[in-house]
Amino acid sequence: VSHVDSLPNWLEVPLGALMALHERGVHAVLLHGPAGTGKWRLAMQFAQACLCDQPVRPGMPCGHCASCQLFVAGNHPDLRVTVPDALAERRPGRPDDDEPASTADTPRTKPSRDIKIDAVRDLSGLFQISAHRGGTRVVVLGPSENLTLPAANALLKNLEEPPPQTLFVLVSDQIDQCLPTIRSRCSLLRVSPPDDTQAQQWLITQGVPAARARQSLIQAGGAPLLARQRALDGDNASSEAEAILPLLRAGGALTVARIASQVPRQVLLPESLAIMQRWAWDLQAVALGADARYFPDDGAQLQVLASTMPSWTRVDAWHQHLQSLQATAEHPLNGKSCVEGALIAYANAWNPAG
Ligand SMILES: [Zn+2]
Repeated sequence: VSHVDSLPNWLEVPLGALMALHERGVHAVLLHGPAGTGKWRLAMQFAQACLCDQPVRPGMPCGHCASCQLFVAGNHPDLRVTVPDALAERRPGRPDDDEPASTADTPRTKPSRDIKIDAVRDLSGLFQISAHRGGTRVVVLGPSENLTLPAANALLKNLEEPPPQTLFVLVSDQIDQCLPTIRSRCSLLRVSPPDDTQAQQWLITQGVPAARARQSLIQAGGAPLLARQRALDGDNASSEAEAILPLLRAGGALTVARIASQVPRQVLLPESLAIMQRWAWDLQAVALGADARYFPDDGAQLQVLASTMPSWTRVDAWHQHLQSLQATAEHPLNGKSCVEGALIAYANAWNPAG
């Protein structure tokens, strides 16, 4: 059994570019591009390939050697993966998804989303001794826009005077929010999402039902890994929240009793808000004569809803209501009553008395 999953095909070109930079002796690369396009997957395959004792070809780790086994077990001594605490539990040993998205298991005290200076200082342990396995050492770190300023400055020192035979692979969803000094010390490599057809084909190979592939992709903003995670990884949060879609389609015909009986008891507020905001976005778009972006299959129903509303500014008011709810959305308490309140406000948008 090989411990190498096949790399999504749109990552082959950036992998080649990464290997070319490596061969030129570049020691720091910053992978950037939208979330959910496979930057972590790419970074980790590159790291595994650089550490592998007998790569099949450049960029392709063998999956069998001692180094690959350590890598897959998540305890290769010459590899460090530095992420915020908030992502750490989602990335045991081998992160392969880009997006922390799900809040299904949000603990009550929120782990930090920052990469703090201690995490960067911890890297010095890696640098003080020569590589255990005699070759390269690899640091994968991100999202680099989440480095605190002291952490960024500490990292900068490493990038300016790199320890021998050490590769830094930084990952960023929002490169414009990375410190310019960090950016300027790295070779930048953009990872773009594949086109829709390619992405849908890939989703289907990943086990996403063909009927859901397109909609998952649209809702993930075209980011295939995010779409897969939401469609597959038991993301019940998302499918429970989707139970509110029939309610949204009903518009002003919604009753309080129907809302109360059809909103799932365990519904999650952040996921539900996300769906309602996309619905509000589409409703506004349709009211203004544009196409629905997130729910194109509901275009006709959105038209009906938009045309029967006393004033389309009601959607705007509801959208703002959702945004104010979002401020509290990470608290899992009373998710059901918040979602119900938002749906009642939605139905009231059709109330002529306003
Ligand atoms: Zn290997």
